[in-house]
Amino acid sequence: MTDQQNATNDLEELADELLASHPPATTPMEVFLGAQFDAGLAWVHFPPGCGGLSLPTTAQATIDARLRAAGAPSGRMINTTAYGQGAATILHYGSAEQRRRYLRPIFTCEEIWCQLFSEPGAGSDLASLATRAEPDGDEWVVNGQKVWTTRGHLARFGLLLARTDPEQVKHAGLTYFVLDMHQPGVEVKPLRQMTGDAGFNEVFINDARIADSERLGEVGEGWKVSTTTLANERYNFMAPPSRGSGAIGTSVQLWIDRTDKASPAALALRDRLLRLWIEAETSRLTSIRATEARKKGNAGPESSIGKLGAAELGKKIATLNVDLLGAEGMRYSSYEMRISDGGRTQELGEYPVQRAFVSSPSGSIAGGTSDIQRNIIGERVLGLPREPAPDKGLPWSQTLRN
Ligand SMILES: Cc1cc2nc3c(=O)[nH]c(=O)nc-3n(C[C@H](O)[C@H](O)[C@H](O)COP(=O)(O)OP(=O)(O)OC[C@H]3O[C@@H](n4cnc5c(N)ncnc54)[C@H](O)[C@@H]3O)c2cc1C
Repeated sequence: MTDQQNATNDLEELADELLASHPPATTPMEVFLGAQFDAGLAWVHFPPGCGGLSLPTTAQATIDARLRAAGAPSGRMINTTAYGQGAATILHYGSAEQRRRYLRPIFTCEEIWCQLFSEPGAGSDLASLATRAEPDGDEWVVNGQKVWTTRGHLARFGLLLARTDPEQVKHAGLTYFVLDMHQPGVEVKPLRQMTGDAGFNEVFINDARIADSERLGEVGEGWKVSTTTLANERYNFMAPPSRGSGAIGTSVQLWIDRTDKASPAALALRDRLLRLWIEAETSRLTSIRATEARKKGNAGPESSIGKLGAAELGKKIATLNVDLLGAEGMRYSSYEMRISDGGRTQELGEYPVQRAFVSSPSGSIAGGTSDIQRNIIGERVLGLPREPAPDKGLPWSQTLRN
């Protein structure tokens, strides 16, 4: 047996011990996830005591596959921001006390976290953000407005990027904090999306206070902290889907379920389905290649191409799926505001195909718009000239903002 097979067997044994002591069918989610954290199987690449065993990142896939096959719960879709960059930021930049206080309740989903980055005047150009944090003794006083804050209405804590020095150039004057969302100066207002769901929010921050001990990283290094931890989101990437699964699998099923398969309109739909199936398979293979490249430490052009391709393809497949439904595709339950429970239950509910269609544009906005991905590909992959930057070298206070 090779060393690699031995290591895999050891990891599977650890997962089996957890499953035997905490059978998923009879163990509440928080209890199971707490035991997984205590066993070091939460983020195996983290150190012991922080939910890990200091193993290579790649070992997590073996654990996750074993637990998933046994029906174990996962908080990945419930506390998404915290599982990805939140936990990694706390590990790398937090104090021992912050690691002890925050990591376990993140993993068990007993404390939900949100990301307070985007603002009404700062999204794609995030570094232009205007929320101010000013020092006051051992504390910081924060004022400003955030928007698009996913799970803000459920969040106990927020990862906040705020401006601490307006006289520095825009990327240099930012600092990263943990914001207690349950304090009087923080007001969260849900926003209704096209689907009717309210999954993200506006957050108004008025004289909110943060102890200096809740700063993550040095003063003025917020941009570096946010970009290194955004890179850490890769730990949160899902395993690549299996061939023909996901939305394109739904397309195939909708085609099978159609009674009309022979009219000219049906044949045109079949043609679209086959083209998109090939695109979906190409995108899946690209994402596998990107994952393998990242494992070897060289994130290549596949990452930005993959994000752009998947977002645009997602919209095309969602459109095909409502077309495959015919007139039924126009039906929808209600656009009344439904406050999201942040992934604890199946949110697609009634009319899942129609709902997936209405929410599909979000894929080309969230996490960097498709236009921004095109810019990145143009500049960093194809080596085209950079976009003009009129505010280069200027202090943030002298830049033009909307
Ligand atoms: C589902 C969802 C969840 C989100 N969750 C969060 C969250 O939890 N926390 C958070 O902080 N943010 C969150 N966001 C916000 C997201 O990061 C921003 O929406 C995104 O970065 C775009 O910023 P913007 O909306 O301000 O658009 P803008 O930056 O104002 O862009 C407007 C339009 O102009 C285009 N554009 C802008 N700049 C350029 C350029 N240089 N070249 C070419 N075109 C350009 C854009 O592509 C877009 O079409 C979420 C967004 C979505 C859709």
